[in-house]
Amino acid sequence: MTRLLLVGPPGAGKGTQAAILAETFGVPAISTGDIFRSNVANETLLGLQVKAIMEAGEYVPDALTNEIVADRLSQADARVGFLLDGYPRTIDQVNELDRILATDNTALDVVVLLEADTDVVVARLLKRANEQGRADDTEEVIRNRMDVYAEQTSPLIDVYDKRHLVVRVDGLGAVADVTARIVDALAARGLASA
Ligand code: ADP
Repeated sequence: MTRLLLVGPPGAGKGTQAAILAETFGVPAISTGDIFRSNVANETLLGLQVKAIMEAGEYVPDALTNEIVADRLSQADARVGFLLDGYPRTIDQVNELDRILATDNTALDVVVLLEADTDVVVARLLKRANEQGRADDTEEVIRNRMDVYAEQTSPLIDVYDKRHLVVRVDGLGAVADVTARIVDALAARGLASA
């Protein structure tokens, strides 16, 4: 049973690391950003609701996001644990996750904070804009996503720090090096890979 959160600014490499770590620890990677993006791509009702919000770099309303995560965590594969990427991002979402975990009589093991310098992440996101053409990777929207992160999500680190759950990992460098740092930091916390 491994229950992890991956937190960090846009462009820190959460999605890349989440996929590798999920495999390593034998748990599903659950990315709210991916869930929303696939709904937008498939033009579902949810996708239609969140498209403009995402394109502006704003957060999807908590009620909607919380409902999606509660539903996803109730699925059978998440019973062995999970790696949440991009959730929670607001205090309201922290409270909802606490409620879900309390209902299941479980708790988080570790919150991995992937740290990266603002200039570096902006450069990475602009590069990704050229490669993948994500609608929220224009320079103006990137700046807004950084501001929203600083205002709404960075305070969460304090909340989890007070619970002694946060491990800080340098997100700069080669993908494999960052993975190794995270795996080492988790091992130091007694979390062994599968
Ligand atoms: P990034 O971390 O690079 O911003 P994500 O794929 O995690 O990318 O998220 C993309 C967008 O999806 C966010 O800018 C936001 O609009 C929406 N989103 C993802 N997760 C959440 C969340 N937990 N709460 C609200 N909105 C979210």
